[in-house]
Amino acid sequence: MITITMLGSGSRGNAILVDGSAGSLLVDAGFGVRTLAKRFEAAARRPEEVGGLLLTHEHVDHACGAAAACDRWSWTVHASAATHTALSVQASGAPADVAVLGTSGQMSLCGFTVEHTPVPHDASDCRAFVLTDEASGARAGIVLDAGHVPDGLAAFLERLDLLVLESNHDDAMLADGPYPAPLKARIGGGQGHLSNRHASALAAACAHRGLRAVVLAHLSETNNTPELAVKTARDALRKAAWKRDSVLAAPQRIVLSPVSADGGVGRPAAAQLSLGL
Ligand SMILES: [Zn+2]
Ligand SMILES: [Zn+2]
Repeated sequence: MITITMLGSGSRGNAILVDGSAGSLLVDAGFGVRTLAKRFEAAARRPEEVGGLLLTHEHVDHACGAAAACDRWSWTVHASAATHTALSVQASGAPADVAVLGTSGQMSLCGFTVEHTPVPHDASDCRAFVLTDEASGARAGIVLDAGHVPDGLAAFLERLDLLVLESNHDDAMLADGPYPAPLKARIGGGQGHLSNRHASALAAACAHRGLRAVVLAHLSETNNTPELAVKTARDALRKAAWKRDSVLAAPQRIVLSPVSADGGVGRPAAAQLSLGL
């Protein structure tokens, strides 16, 4: 069994709770401690249940709460060496208890096998993760900020039960939108963020009978809409002969109801509580 609870996702903060048969991990802590605590409360969960924090990269919307949260809840932070170094010079500071992820590979943590691989992004060393619940074999893949889909990423994400995938912007909305040209170039460039087009192609490449749900993440509030992102991904998945309909967009300001490898969704009343930032 593997369950994902999106505590919030977007350019103003990201945190993803992953529950397995024998423990729980948090991927990214891009909210301050008070907001993180509120998000856990909204999900009817406690931060003390988390056995470790995995960081994709050092950008503030992924790591600003890492040091303080680790102090408060005694989490160990697992991140690449370059990410740890980058964190040490940020205002939020370096976490006290750190473990370094190698260049790529896997490790066992809280009942999960955690695999990681580099993805292209304008950070020190951004990683994508696959977490496999060791008791059941259920697998969840998490790809957040990435400028493009590198060779080998779809193979890294093979046989997933759940996929969390950045679907940042619609190409036309970004081109026609209000951002200044350099920011548009950064977001749409190869070291920026995945478009709906990129995300839907990768989701389609990951489609197989065992894939239960796709959660679209890190949607731009300016250059995308949840409806457009979901429609683009659904269309691509249908073309790939995926028979399910479970494509969801993770919101920035509220907790998304948990998504399980069995297709179940639970605790909606508590999870949908709006908190703001
Ligand atoms: Zn980000
Ligand atoms: Zn980033």
